[in-house]
Amino acid sequence: MTKQTTNIISDDAAIRITNLNKWYGDFHVLKDVNLTVKQGERIVIAGPSGSGKSTLIRCINRLEVHQKGEIFVDGIELTSDVKNISKIRSEVGMCFQSFNLFPHLTILENCTLAPMSVRGLSQTEAEEIAMHFLEKVRISDQAMKHPGQLSGGQQQRVAIARALCMKPRAMLFDEPTSALDPETIKEVLDTMITLAEDGMTMVCVTHEMGFARQVADRVIFMDKGTIVEENTPDEFFDNPQHERTQLFLSQIF
Ligand code: ADP
Ligand code: MG
Repeated sequence: MTKQTTNIISDDAAIRITNLNKWYGDFHVLKDVNLTVKQGERIVIAGPSGSGKSTLIRCINRLEVHQKGEIFVDGIELTSDVKNISKIRSEVGMCFQSFNLFPHLTILENCTLAPMSVRGLSQTEAEEIAMHFLEKVRISDQAMKHPGQLSGGQQQRVAIARALCMKPRAMLFDEPTSALDPETIKEVLDTMITLAEDGMTMVCVTHEMGFARQVADRVIFMDKGTIVEENTPDEFFDNPQHERTQLFLSQIF
């Protein structure tokens, strides 16, 4: 019998990525990416479209598979071990641009599904936790509605609450406000700011540079599959070092 080896390292980092490389067929999408996210740290990832931002954060909860390098989440290496994958997925919450709520379930059911099926909670326990987080994102009054009856901003807040119901150790966001109307962007950003104030470890792909300045401990700038610059928000915005970063900032301001 072959023994399944799982690499576990003692680590104070929430997420540790070393020499990460990924290809889509022949296309080298991530090139030697190194990134360490400490517990409670907030990282914003910026960069032009196609630079590999989504691919990078999708690798962190194994929605995408990498070919070279290492990713550790909470000291557990992401390998092809299926048990690892479900463990990582329950420790790392994810919010997408397109909300991805189940349309045929109520808001409450969307929030209780995974805690019951993955964490094994009773319906009563799961509903109690769901109502707690729906209150936290200020949407508990909509619990019995279906996603289609809610605005985009409300649906995204539900998506955040749903992820929180799994009590994740870290949260990943992939352009959570990009599909929203300007007037509802703020309500989602405010929810994310509250989460940051609560000490959540967060990795956010976003073009909301006001949010980045206010919340991020570090801003990472990606271009063509590599991290070209990494700095505090003030340094990143006021004194960008790399030519590519300067061009990007001149285009968005
Ligand atoms: P970003 O989020 O920064 O816009 P992505 O990570 O989505 O970038 O994509 C990086 C590059 O990889 C793009 O050139 C994109 O076309 C390509 N890509 C993304 N997903 C796939 C896929 N499933 N198959 C092939 N190429 C892909
Ligand atoms: Mg993307």
